[in-house]
Amino acid sequence: MMHELLPLAKYAFALMAHYSGADSVYRWLCGPSLAVLMYHRLRDDYDPAPLSTSPSTFARHVGWLRARRWLVSLEDGRHHLSTRRRGPRYALTFDDGYMDNLHILAVSPPPPATLYVVTSLIGGSSLWYYRLAHAIQNAGNPVLDLGFFGMESVDISDATTHPRLLQLLADSIKALPPRDVEPTVDRIVAAAAPTEPMPDAGEMLGWDGISELQTHGIEIGAHTHTHPLLSKTDDTHVREEITVSTSVLRQGLGRQPRHFAYPNGRAQDFGQREVDLLRNAGYATAVTTVERLNRSDTDPYRIGRINAFEARFRSPGGRLSKALFFSETSGLLGWLRQWRQ
Ligand SMILES: [Zn+2]
Repeated sequence: MMHELLPLAKYAFALMAHYSGADSVYRWLCGPSLAVLMYHRLRDDYDPAPLSTSPSTFARHVGWLRARRWLVSLEDGRHHLSTRRRGPRYALTFDDGYMDNLHILAVSPPPPATLYVVTSLIGGSSLWYYRLAHAIQNAGNPVLDLGFFGMESVDISDATTHPRLLQLLADSIKALPPRDVEPTVDRIVAAAAPTEPMPDAGEMLGWDGISELQTHGIEIGAHTHTHPLLSKTDDTHVREEITVSTSVLRQGLGRQPRHFAYPNGRAQDFGQREVDLLRNAGYATAVTTVERLNRSDTDPYRIGRINAFEARFRSPGGRLSKALFFSETSGLLGWLRQWRQ
């Protein structure tokens, strides 16, 4: 995989491909493509998961894409794939529905984007992951007793170990049956005994924010009602997750949502059952988190995306790099990654 390439070698390759024109030639030869960028939060704060992008970095991504006239809505991006016109288009997507997504409107004029809302979280506190991260970062106990979870106790007094621990815990929690997720997180939070309470208000968009975004042309899509891993959920509950989130959005927005994002979104997190249910419920597209550029043969219910988190397109020196951004998202670096997978 590309991550194994030395960052310096990767950066040098991106610079060469971008500034020699090789990237442009590659894009021209390849026919139409659609890169769907995936964002979660727009904030400057440190994030233990690769899920945040600063508003200023986001504004630069948008500026670069606008300068090339490649930025379109998801719907127009799909239309582009069905044409014979060469060259890439880009669509922007946001998952979960965080309040800080209102920073989209700080870009003038606001870019087209699709925002996927978890309907049970509207106006409430964030997903369990951030509750868990907050508890570990503010733990009152130096040692986390995970005996009840079938894991050994972990020393959490050294903050540099937190990202790895969080990753490990998050992966184990995601593997649980959906109904066990919240109680397990509650127990881990209790074991960490955080000294600061979780700031619970204002983490997620309420209806005011959602309709403000919609007024500015942001398309609102569904991301289930409670964000379970659908492939681990039984038929009745999968159906319920889709119907409830659809009807909550239909009532709140005054129109039928047309776009859907699978929670977690890896190839193993959904299947044909979900695709069929979404098509029957009137959805036109569904996005995954599988890193892939979309071509004319892409299934509209299995759209690939590229995670555009803060550190993604940075040079080894830490600078945001236009060459890396374009080479990774529609150029030779992206091709090299897909080929090596
Ligand atoms: Zn999500």
